[in-house]
Amino acid sequence: MHELSIAMSIVEIAEENARKESASVVTEIELEVGTLSGVVMEALETAMDSAIKGTMMENAVIKYKMIAGKAQCAECGTVFDTDTAFDPCPECGSPFSDIVQGKELTVKKLIVE
Ligand SMILES: [Zn+2]
Repeated sequence: MHELSIAMSIVEIAEENARKESASVVTEIELEVGTLSGVVMEALETAMDSAIKGTMMENAVIKYKMIAGKAQCAECGTVFDTDTAFDPCPECGSPFSDIVQGKELTVKKLIVE
């Protein structure tokens, strides 16, 4: 399961950082998830719940911040919102664009004790 391996690596990153600060408990973590990251939100939440069991993150508050998808037209440079990465440019109709935002899947904030 894709989301479970993502969740486990998030826990790994969190624990690594907590250890670096000589902390023993992760109290809060904030994740940024882009709508174009390919992650199914519900699946990630479920995966996180099971991945944190028995770890330093077991009782941590997990916050999810969604990052909207944005693309830039390769023809005219217009930046527009997209949830699929395959939308044509709303200005010139060009099907060619680059994703400039929305692929994020990062640990934004980590509070340890
Ligand atoms: Zn365009």
